Amino acid sequence: MRDLVIDVTSLTRRFGAKTALDAVTFSIPRGGVYGLVGANGAGKTTLIRHILGLLRAESGAVRVFGRDPVADPAGVLSRIGYLSEENDLPGWMRVGELIRYQRAFYPAWDDIYAAELRESFQLDAAAKIKDLSKGQKARAGLLIALAYRPELLVLDEPSSGLDPIVRRDILNAVLRTIAEEGRTVLFSSHLLDEVEQVADHVTMIDQGRIAISATLQEIRESHRAGDHVPSLDQIFVNRLRGAVQ
Ligand code: ATP
Repeated sequence: MRDLVIDVTSLTRRFGAKTALDAVTFSIPRGGVYGLVGANGAGKTTLIRHILGLLRAESGAVRVFGRDPVADPAGVLSRIGYLSEENDLPGWMRVGELIRYQRAFYPAWDDIYAAELRESFQLDAAAKIKDLSKGQKARAGLLIALAYRPELLVLDEPSSGLDPIVRRDILNAVLRTIAEEGRTVLFSSHLLDEVEQVADHVTMIDQGRIAISATLQEIRESHRAGDHVPSLDQIFVNRLRGAVQ
């Protein structure tokens, strides 16, 4: 049996009349980088919030490391690093204080790695969080999500705050390293060229349903037209238009 890190079965979620997730079945084995893509409002954040136990499954089941994240939040969250789109860090803290505060929660916190990340992210330990730019806050959020080397790293639209240099040079390298160490990354994005650069496996959500879920290579091969291999962007735009079945 495969060692599943995330196992979601027939998950449905409604907000009033809106069906945000419609019988979603989705699983991730250990190791690798998994991209979750879809238009605004497709259901990506709602799925991630279920995985983190922030929303209770109305129908269907969610298991992370074989556990129910709502029933056993400590058992699940202590093994997950998470960077949200909002990235709500305490503005009154200095970067160095934030790092010391966070390390207290995680026995596996790696001081050397945290210091390396702070250096490569060019974050000043004395700077107050509230004075950081959006991109610097995103870097700080990423640092604290990474420095205890979580088994599963969940990033919700990490690129929305990160500048192109961090995205291209650092994020990709960090994500690849995590995968090479046998750990798992799930990241949502609407930037398909970025997903294409870093993900091994791509899942596309369209209006609350899984439209495509396969390895990048399988997706490319199945949409190849002679010598022309379309980009993810072309594949997904066509898919949304109903041109590709
Ligand atoms: P984005 O890229 O814009 O963040 P998303 O794919 O993450 O989009 P979700 O945030 O999961 O999408 O939202 C899916 C749908 O559910 C949307 O129509 C959204 O308006 C709705 N929705 C999500 N959370 C709530 C909520 N708490 N109350 C009401 N509607 C919600």
